[in-house]
Amino acid sequence: MKITEITIRHLKMKLKDPFTTSFGTFEDKEFLLLEAKDEDGTIGWGESVAFHSPWYNEETLKTNWHILEDFLIPLLLNKEISHPDEVNKIFEPIRKNNMAKSTIEGAVWDIYAQQTNQSLASALGGKKDKIEVGISIGIQKSIDELVTIVDGYVKEGYKRIKVKIKPGWDVDVMRTLRQKFPDVAIMADANSAYRLEDAELLKQLDEFNLTMVEQPLASDDIIDHATLQKQMKTPICLDESIHSLEDARKAVELGATKIINIKIGRVGGLTEAKKIHDYCESQGIPVWCGGMLESGIGRAHNVALTTLSNFILPGDTASSSRYWEKDIIEPEVVAEDGYIQVPQTVGIGYKVNVDTVESYTVDKKIYR
Ligand SMILES: [Mg+2]
Repeated sequence: MKITEITIRHLKMKLKDPFTTSFGTFEDKEFLLLEAKDEDGTIGWGESVAFHSPWYNEETLKTNWHILEDFLIPLLLNKEISHPDEVNKIFEPIRKNNMAKSTIEGAVWDIYAQQTNQSLASALGGKKDKIEVGISIGIQKSIDELVTIVDGYVKEGYKRIKVKIKPGWDVDVMRTLRQKFPDVAIMADANSAYRLEDAELLKQLDEFNLTMVEQPLASDDIIDHATLQKQMKTPICLDESIHSLEDARKAVELGATKIINIKIGRVGGLTEAKKIHDYCESQGIPVWCGGMLESGIGRAHNVALTTLSNFILPGDTASSSRYWEKDIIEPEVVAEDGYIQVPQTVGIGYKVNVDTVESYTVDKKIYR
């Protein structure tokens, strides 16, 4: 294959529920979509999971656009490639900027799956025809509100409830949830809100039989997580700290993590995600697929990746309707009774509605 044309679009999509980060509360999700065209006319789609502000990691949609335009697109355009695994190698001269790299790499995987007449899931080596999914719930105004929200999702059949925690919204919240939902798989995601000095507080979470506590300590740490894991019964799962297979290997060898959250964008694409998956499987470390409030295109890539065998724990990939009034794919991603059926059609398995994409587009540029 040879990519001869790439279109980058900046989309602004209204969220059903406002989304709160350390930079404030947002009504819309802004992100980049990338459309790549092969010389034979096949079109593949990729989504950047970089947010518009650098609260999750250092990348933003603007830094992604800059890295794509000035470095990644010139490296890839008109280059002969025989397999998407080669994209990683082509991008090797560029350090980090994993979300930008993943945006193009995802589109190349989509084209490859279409040209080899298979679904993206099977191109990746996935075998499942349905995947188990969980839901992620942000910090609420009161515990009562949270309980009502959780109750709704448990009734919808979601297989795992993930709740964000932070200092002042942690032990009491988890205690109440465990009392109200004694048999539900519950986990807590701290998004790096604590430090090792908080170990005594974090150890209180052991009481509640949580499936895991995700990224309790600093976003660039693995050493303190290893120290904390030795003191805690609850398995620690790393998210922000893992950017590559090498990071995963070091964290596992140190005992910093018993579970890994794989996000395609954070690790630089599907090829690296698959390598981390395979390594974790060989080490008996279960993985799951984290969410970044993706539109249908990113969601479709997550669904495909989750069909790999070591995605044992339910991920964050909920129904499109959880986030969007109208998604950009047809049909939309639908979770029923906690499962998403994996599409068997070629490529990402969902049709991109280009008119809807255009209606959300606020900026666009074509590269040849
Ligand atoms: Mg997380």
